[in-house]
Amino acid sequence: MTTVPTAQDAHTQDARARRATLNLPYTRVDDMFIDGAYVPARGTGRNPVTDPATGEVWGEVPDGSAEDVDAAVAAARRAFDAGPWPRLSPSERAAYLTRIADEIEARAETLALTNTRENGSPITETRGAAANAAGIFRYFATLAEYLEREDVRPFPFAPGQESVVRREPVGVCALIAPWNFPINLVVIKLAPALLAGCTVVIKPASPTPLSIRFIVDAVAAAGVPAGVVNLVTGSGRMGDLLVKHPGVDKVAFTGSTPVGRRIAAACGELLRPVTLELGGKSSAIVLPDADLDAMAKVLIRSSMRNTGQTCYISTRILAPASRYEEVVEMARSVIAAAPQGDPLDPSTVFGPSATKAQFGTVMGYVESGLAEGARATAGGRAASFAPETGLEGGFFVEPTVFADVTPSMRVAREEIFGPVLTILKYDDSAPGGGVDEAVALANNTEFGLGGLVFSSDPEAALAVADRVDTGSIGINFFASNHSAPFGGRHDSGLGTEYGIEGLGAYLTYKSIHRKAG
Ligand code: NAP
Ligand code: MG
Repeated sequence: MTTVPTAQDAHTQDARARRATLNLPYTRVDDMFIDGAYVPARGTGRNPVTDPATGEVWGEVPDGSAEDVDAAVAAARRAFDAGPWPRLSPSERAAYLTRIADEIEARAETLALTNTRENGSPITETRGAAANAAGIFRYFATLAEYLEREDVRPFPFAPGQESVVRREPVGVCALIAPWNFPINLVVIKLAPALLAGCTVVIKPASPTPLSIRFIVDAVAAAGVPAGVVNLVTGSGRMGDLLVKHPGVDKVAFTGSTPVGRRIAAACGELLRPVTLELGGKSSAIVLPDADLDAMAKVLIRSSMRNTGQTCYISTRILAPASRYEEVVEMARSVIAAAPQGDPLDPSTVFGPSATKAQFGTVMGYVESGLAEGARATAGGRAASFAPETGLEGGFFVEPTVFADVTPSMRVAREEIFGPVLTILKYDDSAPGGGVDEAVALANNTEFGLGGLVFSSDPEAALAVADRVDTGSIGINFFASNHSAPFGGRHDSGLGTEYGIEGLGAYLTYKSIHRKAG
């Protein structure tokens, strides 16, 4: 038997030596950022920080208490009710946003290392996190002009009367984030909240409590007044306390659909504004004229980004029957050639799942796919590494491509949030090239977040994109645009982030009616 060298053979897997060279410290944190300073946590509980590539605990942070939440909300409340921040002009706040962006960029490499050690995102991914966060701050700084624009509207049918429309900050905001992109998914809330004049309390996910401190450090270094930005760490219970706290005016959440539903119910009862960015199960519709070589180049970014732990990725490929095996082979060869291993290695494409629990969830889906008759053309099992690599205790699932997937299988319907691609088939010999069936398959889900259309015909692609019932969709590539709204329909969420619409989530309006002078 001849053995074909795989991407893994050529790929450096020596995580232990790499970590020794980088001289990464054990990180013990005892404080939280409240009212402009790091202060000792009131709660005495501790949460470990685990490197998902090795399974080793490399840090610990406070598991906060209700007293910590109260202190953080009280500080944000004072800063909003009596502090300078909401009373500055939008241009003055925008100048702070620009300084925050500079300070974040100055921390890029340490931030990337910490983020990768927390959640196993490949270092090539986390090295972009600071630049992306800075870009979001810089983008929102440009919207100061929109906030300052005088807005006077005549009454349409009553001459001589007009209304002055004020755009005011909504108040104290609770920002609750998941672990998959622990920087970006806070910053996309923080930047518009700060520009609007709000004050905030941030609650990161338990597995990723440390990298967000670099953003808080940048805010402090930029000279943002005390109490405007506060950070508490701890379990989901702290998120629940924040959501229901009488001192909080608005909740912004990114995370799972079940937790989002609970938060929406609590906010409904309180009549508290809430934005929810939740789960997804998006589809890539491959039209028969698609350029599969071009698709191969963007496949991982658009369908498996961050080891499949990205909310909007199109993990369901809908392939035309006439080219089904060609699509399956393209996906198999792309995925099989992508190195999996130490996320601190810049040549790594696939890392581990971010937590042991997520590893278990993903493996459960892999097993359900196999049990329901899907054909694994790549992966289909946990990845194992030899003890000398240092990765033997990591939470690795082999990147998996499932062919022969039917719409009723669990792997076709539920969000997996791991490196698992499913390929379904539509009949392109039907009238209209089977587009109706492909669109129906894409829309046959409770979710409505992202999607893709692959085609060489821009008009045909746009026509299909218009029929897909999601908040965003890409043609031949997918990326989020800071200036265009991003949000989910149906079980994927409520409201939008990014763009002027995303800024609107942190504003409340007041119309002052008067006789025109
Ligand atoms: P999660 O379990 O819903 O947790 C998200 C955050 O909520 C964490 O900070 C969590 O704290 C906190 N939390 C847990 N229970 C809470 C409660 N009862 N009240 C208030 N807060 C609570 O989600 P995850 O597992 O971290 O992240 C994965 C999910 O995020 C996936 O479903 C993914 O699709 C979704 N996501 C969506 C987007 C988007 O923009 N649409 C982007 C990225 C990810 P603990 O960590 O301490 O439990
Ligand atoms: Mg969770």
